[in-house]
Amino acid sequence: MSRSLTLLGATGSIGASTLDLVRRNPDEWRIDTLTANCSASELAALAIEFGAKLAVVGDEGCLPELRAALGSSGIAAAGGKQALAEAAARPVDMTVAAIVGCAGLAPVMAAVERGGTIALANKEALVSAGEVLMEAVARHGATLLPTDSEHNAIFQCLAGNRIEDVAKITLTASGGPLRTWSQAQLDDATPAEAVAHPNWSMGAKISVDSATMMNKGLEYIEAYHLFPVGLDKLDIVIHPQSVVHSMVEFRDRSTLAQLGPSDMRVPIASCLAWPERMETPLGPLDLAQIGELTFHAPDEQRFPATRLARDAIRAGGSAPAILNAANEVAVAAFLAGQIRFTSIAALVEETLTRSNDAPRPASLEEVLAVDSSARLQAQRLLESHALV
Ligand code: NAD
Ligand code: MG
Repeated sequence: MSRSLTLLGATGSIGASTLDLVRRNPDEWRIDTLTANCSASELAALAIEFGAKLAVVGDEGCLPELRAALGSSGIAAAGGKQALAEAAARPVDMTVAAIVGCAGLAPVMAAVERGGTIALANKEALVSAGEVLMEAVARHGATLLPTDSEHNAIFQCLAGNRIEDVAKITLTASGGPLRTWSQAQLDDATPAEAVAHPNWSMGAKISVDSATMMNKGLEYIEAYHLFPVGLDKLDIVIHPQSVVHSMVEFRDRSTLAQLGPSDMRVPIASCLAWPERMETPLGPLDLAQIGELTFHAPDEQRFPATRLARDAIRAGGSAPAILNAANEVAVAAFLAGQIRFTSIAALVEETLTRSNDAPRPASLEEVLAVDSSARLQAQRLLESHALV
């Protein structure tokens, strides 16, 4: 019998990869709900193709266009933040959480609160609300399947092992498209150069995060919450080929790693089929053809973002939510041509310094309040970095 699936962020890069797998396995899955921020006609076309019951736009202003595009299909339509959270609370066999940014937090929380099984790609939700989200997962008996490729790799390596036996978890990082650039070159990096990732094809925000290395910083915090081994046992190594997706070393000095093509359909498939396996359209791993796998330490002078993230999670409290909010503002400003590439990390650092050390948020509402005030603070600081 087929299983029901809700896909939050259906029109994005992870959304497209998920739907590609569903399209190839029509007997395995039936789509309940698809969501997007706006992209109403694209969302409607997907909802019609997959026979969804409900299509939701986060931006309420796009609802009339969605309704018009759904026409007489019989598919229900809704719009707005509340509608997104209600859609995520519908009972389904699996939710794929692929909205970008803290905007995905409330829907993820809604899916958690109904005790669902959630394939979590939306790392910003976990960075902003780590403790609140993980406590809710435990309280409501929800299942989080890590979809981010590194965390999915770690999850696979940990299967059948005890977390107490872990000596070290190493997140691999490609280093991004600007890995070899000098400081002076980084100052002048353009949005087009920053999003041109050599190994992965992804949405604009995560592509910029990958270029600044903030993506690895966010993933470090994500790993801290998903795999409770403590910060001292979490490490980052640069691995430009993106073949080893992460590794776990155990106390007997045995290290397990997960390897595969740099295509998100692999970790998504591992979540969809979990605890079993399914086919993907990818070819076999050809190590002889790849030839060389290399590893080296990150350079936090040129790429300070991993240091900022580590400091934020060490400081705890509201710092990770502030880090994430400031980064979202800074990346949007960089993509809009308002600030320099190197101003992204500077702006995050300044926002963290200026924000009062608020205590750790204890509820979804408190996380969202920290998120909004950090955005305002970052917006105010943008001016001093503005390119004229
Ligand atoms: P994307 O920009 O391609 O797609 C984002 C999706 O979220 C779209 O459907 C968009 O309509 C929706 N969305 C955006 N803002 C929204 C809002 N305010 N309210 C409701 N919906 C909104 O992003 P992506 O690359 O697919 O990434 C999605 C998430 O997965 C991110 O958190 C990213 O860090 C994570 N992730 C992505 C990849 C990848 O390869 N793309 C890999 C690992 C993790
Ligand atoms: Mg990743």
